[in-house]
Amino acid sequence: RKLGYAIVGLGNYATNQILPRIAGCEFAELKALVSGTPAKLEKFGAQYGVPRTHWYDYKSYDRIKDNPDIDLVYVVLPNSLHAEYSIRASQAGKHVLCEKPMAVSSAECEAMIAAARKANRKLMIGYRCHFEPYNLRAVELVKTGFVGRPTLITAEHGFYAQPNQWRLDRPMSGGGSMMDIGIYSLNAARYLAGEEPVAVSAMEFTDRSDPRFRNVEDRIDWQMRFPSGVIANCVSSYSSGHNAFRVTGTKGWVGMEPATSYAGHQMWARTSGKTEQVMLPPPAKNQFVAQLDHLAESVLSGIPLRASGEEGLRDMRLIEAIYRSAREGRAIQLA
Ligand code: NAD
Repeated sequence: RKLGYAIVGLGNYATNQILPRIAGCEFAELKALVSGTPAKLEKFGAQYGVPRTHWYDYKSYDRIKDNPDIDLVYVVLPNSLHAEYSIRASQAGKHVLCEKPMAVSSAECEAMIAAARKANRKLMIGYRCHFEPYNLRAVELVKTGFVGRPTLITAEHGFYAQPNQWRLDRPMSGGGSMMDIGIYSLNAARYLAGEEPVAVSAMEFTDRSDPRFRNVEDRIDWQMRFPSGVIANCVSSYSSGHNAFRVTGTKGWVGMEPATSYAGHQMWARTSGKTEQVMLPPPAKNQFVAQLDHLAESVLSGIPLRASGEEGLRDMRLIEAIYRSAREGRAIQLA
């Protein structure tokens, strides 16, 4: 049988990107909805054929443990609620897929990992780019020496954040652009490098007279040095649009723009003085379906989990080091 998902939080991402994709899954199906807004349960319950018996709000949420149709819980709430709702799902005996950023601190990430381990259940983080064919091809090209020895990675992510949303409220978001969109620069630099950074140095610029930035940062850029010597220059912004990365090496480069978008990825590769656009055939499963299916397949067949809780924790520890570096005005050596 297919495994059943409960979707927790019926906001923009859940309703526009996730709910419509579940029907394309091979190993999973939609079984339950969790929302504090009855009208959303009515609307999406009717649209996706989820019966009233499988609707929950945040108070009745723990009763998912009595519903054997629910195997998997996908937490798509504001960042500060990720830890609580993931841990409660683990305690209810369910496997968890939690959106990025994993939580708002490394301590919360550790508690989530511990809860999943104690329940003997899986914990995965919503790093959809780990399932996106162009991103996977970029990683493969770098790994197989297409660019020669990599020397430089640039990764830029940003958008103009509209005012009056939880992303700009630190207690809900845990931080500014870094938490929401800069994390794509960070995660991409790590998967493109194929190793973990040993030092980080960051610089922030935030116009505190802009009412959007009362308690979160706007721009934060940072460098990371990796053991092989490759250096990553990374951008995170809530004031300008960026969605690109490039890996340059001794023989050429591979670059993408947009790199981590929902669709429409464009990729170029240069070697021996010649630049070509890389075009891939449409995948059998897009990144959303592949990600949703991956957790189910991992539960069913025991294949190792990509984008695990440990992966989310690594990013969160680095985000903390990036913030610390910017605050203290010095490079941070990483353990
Ligand atoms: P959103 O504001 O559209 O949705 C959040 C939902 O949480 C809303 O339906 C809101 O009603 C609900 N909610 C429950 N309790 C709440 C509370 N106490 N305060 C505020 N809202 C509450 O946000 P979104 O854009 O859907 O983002 C949700 C999560 O998904 C975030 O963690 C975000 O980082 C992540 N996300 C990931 C991607 C991706 O590409 N992987 C894209 C967008 C968002």
